[in-house]
Amino acid sequence: MTVMIPYGRQDISESDIQAVVDVLRSDYLTQGPVVPAFEKSVADYCDVQHAIAVNSATSALHIACLALGVGSGDIIWTTPLTFVASANCALYCGAMIDFVDIDPLTYNISLERLAEKLALAAKTGNLPKVVIPVHLCGQPCNMAGIHALGLQYGFKIIEDASHAIGGRYRGNEVIGNCRYSDITVFSFHPVKIITTAEGGMSTTNDVSLAKRMQLLRSHGITRDVNEMTHEPDGPWYYQQIDLGYNYRMTELQAALGLSQMQRLDEFVSKRHVIARRYDQLFANLPIVTPWQHSDSYSGWHLYVVRLKLKEVGKTHLQVFKALRAAGIGVNLHYIPVYLQPYYEGLGFKMGYCPEAELYYAEAISLPMYPGLTEEQQNHVVKALAEAIR
Ligand SMILES: *Cc1c(COP(=O)(O)O)cnc(C)c1O
Repeated sequence: MTVMIPYGRQDISESDIQAVVDVLRSDYLTQGPVVPAFEKSVADYCDVQHAIAVNSATSALHIACLALGVGSGDIIWTTPLTFVASANCALYCGAMIDFVDIDPLTYNISLERLAEKLALAAKTGNLPKVVIPVHLCGQPCNMAGIHALGLQYGFKIIEDASHAIGGRYRGNEVIGNCRYSDITVFSFHPVKIITTAEGGMSTTNDVSLAKRMQLLRSHGITRDVNEMTHEPDGPWYYQQIDLGYNYRMTELQAALGLSQMQRLDEFVSKRHVIARRYDQLFANLPIVTPWQHSDSYSGWHLYVVRLKLKEVGKTHLQVFKALRAAGIGVNLHYIPVYLQPYYEGLGFKMGYCPEAELYYAEAISLPMYPGLTEEQQNHVVKALAEAIR
């Protein structure tokens, strides 16, 4: 039995290791100079004013919502095809969550469904305060369209770009530049495009949002005299002016992230090579390969195929199990969030987003990461061909 080929994994170089070791030998393990250096590196790459590093994308989503003033009585909308964190952030703030079905071509939030739902919500006075589009698999959402709706209906936008660092929208708009959103959030979990083990970052061009997120990631405490309610009592003085958290990233994590940034473009272009090769090798199989917008450059976090079940003659579960048995760590991204028992407890039911449920019945995430060899890829293709024969 060969070792399982995972669906995603980190790529760690000797210089990544050295960067972390250097921090271990330095004066600061947290709250030192490397976190700001990593933030600057991401901000420069994304062509955005501010970047705020935190200990996960989940934390970044939470404080992004808080910075935008989300609280009880507010509603947030997102896509059902995402990791639960994109929806949980609303509930953390005491807000309500709702879901907009996906586009059957891109698997991202559907602009048409969003426009319809907004028109309806405007009539009933239930408009969302924030919409959170997710660039699923790394493919950018229709941000210009969502942004235009945001202006029309007065909602804010948080891009969940956990899959999409290194991607580009409309030719040269770097994901994270916040041209069409208030805040963008990245994840640096090991399966994502670059890693800090655990970690996340938000970007924004709004200085007041940046300051609020900086405050909230560290207990709501400030050392800036200008933000204090009165003159400092003495040199030791700091003030807690809001209820924040400890969501800080460590220097060790930032060192790994900063080092990984040097290879970000290389990682993404390797993912593109793998995707193109899959596309070619799958040309004659009864599966749907991922559609790509000609203007956009995906981060290619995931390579998801959909089985044409009428032509396959096996069930989704049978194919999935056959691939696992062949040593391929296939996965499924994602179970529609509202079908999770916790969300069913909030009143969501099967049938709510039909396109997302159809996707869930057919989708399989195949191995996709820079270290995947051609030989391993051939094995995946052969095993899938056998599984659906
Ligand atoms: C991974 C992921 C998150 C959460 O990221 P963490 O850094 O693990 O908290 C949120 N949203 C999406 C779409 C993700 O893929």
